[in-house]
Amino acid sequence: MKCPNCNTWNPDDKIVCWRCGFELPKPQPKKQPAVNRVIGGLPIWAWVVLGLLLVVWLAFQCAGPISTG
Ligand SMILES: [Zn+2]
Repeated sequence: MKCPNCNTWNPDDKIVCWRCGFELPKPQPKKQPAVNRVIGGLPIWAWVVLGLLLVVWLAFQCAGPISTG
């Protein structure tokens, strides 16, 4: 990284500039933003659960009253 003070290149692990002693900013670790997709105010997993419940509910509807005859 370049020293913001004297514009001299420094290794990334340097804390202060080797030339002017200026304190170098810490390199920002590249962090992946947490993927938190939300649809209609609900996270995707909530929709999956709702979908499963709907399927179960439909299955019960199709089964109808259980005839023991
Ligand atoms: Zn410097």
